Amino acid sequence: MPATIDLTDPSARPARPSTPRPMADKPTLVGMNRDEMVAAMADAGVPEKQRKMRVNQIWHWLYIRGVSDFADMHTISRDLRENLASRYTIARPEIVEEQISNDGTRKWLMRFPPRGAGRPVEVETVYIPEEGRGTLCISSQVGCTLTCTFCHTGTQKLVRNLTAEEILAQLLVARDRLGDFPHKDTPQGAIVPAEGRKVTNIVMMGMGEPLYNFDEVKKALLIAADGDGLALSRRRITLSTSGVVPGIVRTGEEIGVMLAISLHAVRDELRDELVPINKKYPLKELLEACRTYPGVSNARRITFEYVMLKGVNDSLSDAKELVRLLKGIPAKINLIPFNPWPGSNYECSDWETIETFADFVNANGYASPIRTPRGRDILAACGQLKSESERMRKTDRLALEAMMIAGHGAD
Ligand code: SAH
Ligand code: SF4
Repeated sequence: MPATIDLTDPSARPARPSTPRPMADKPTLVGMNRDEMVAAMADAGVPEKQRKMRVNQIWHWLYIRGVSDFADMHTISRDLRENLASRYTIARPEIVEEQISNDGTRKWLMRFPPRGAGRPVEVETVYIPEEGRGTLCISSQVGCTLTCTFCHTGTQKLVRNLTAEEILAQLLVARDRLGDFPHKDTPQGAIVPAEGRKVTNIVMMGMGEPLYNFDEVKKALLIAADGDGLALSRRRITLSTSGVVPGIVRTGEEIGVMLAISLHAVRDELRDELVPINKKYPLKELLEACRTYPGVSNARRITFEYVMLKGVNDSLSDAKELVRLLKGIPAKINLIPFNPWPGSNYECSDWETIETFADFVNANGYASPIRTPRGRDILAACGQLKSESERMRKTDRLALEAMMIAGHGAD
């Protein structure tokens, strides 16, 4: 049975500093780049000559040791720790709920303070363990300004962009809860990679369009990739976009991570409907941006996500056009069984249709992830949806989300 731990029950919560709403009251050091942190040291009265050294120490405590309380920074004098604590916070967000499914997939609901937006926001982060890797799916916005017709997030107005701190905090919380920092225990029975890190890959595939929150996403990902801190290889970070063309070049040049494109249709007419940003940046421009994506190669392929919608985009002629369109682009194709939500107007393609589609793209040289055992689980869930689309069980939702998230970036 999947387990849900209600963390609004104080006895179930992990131990945290007792200061009330610390994150809401003070600026945070989490998510600051080094220059900003140097400026923060100056504000705290740290002599100029010491600032860089202090920043290095704090960076180490935050991102290698994973501390969330200044009091634990033992290499820093008590005076300075107290001084910093009076001005800044490094506390984690509140974890409202933690869900754990049979296959080890975990989902956290985190609550962040208002940040001037009037009310707190809640964000979901999902962890998918697979053989030899653990992938974390991170959100970049609460809601989305775009209105892709098959996407539940697209029905929710943008509440606000997440800050770099909030994007990064999703990774820090996951590492806390999985025992992926020194002195943090892995929960008993947790399904995690047998050796090494528990979070090996991250994908920006949660809520929101990351390229419409470019600066904060960039800041957070550069910190995640920083070799003296969290040190995730850029090849293990994947950013998914619905096709914000100007942001694609910048992603390659300024962040240097792997790219995933939410393609979903191979003709402009249909893509205009499914992914309306296509009206602004049509297929030709989008694919040109992919062809010239900085750093793209056979070893660093672009993933094309393609949601399988019954009778809409799942014919063999669509598969043929897909192969034709992607010619010359080092690409992988991720076929995603449509995940219905209450009020959605689409159905998931039949399994045989998905297999025929997958066989065709496979035969043309593209690996197809639906053949993994996890994909088989999804088949069951997908079939069930026809009769039970409104009452989809939490485990099935998790399994489907896992399907979308798994298999991105380098092993
Ligand atoms: N906004 C970004 C990243 C978040 S969405 C983007 O669109 O790429 C992550 C992936 O899930 C995208 O490929 C998106 O199109 C897909 N997706 C959204 N809703 C879905 C649904 N109901 N079923 C299957 N895939 C869905
Ligand atoms: Fe959903 Fe992504 Fe489209 Fe936003 S851009 S509506 S998150 S699929």
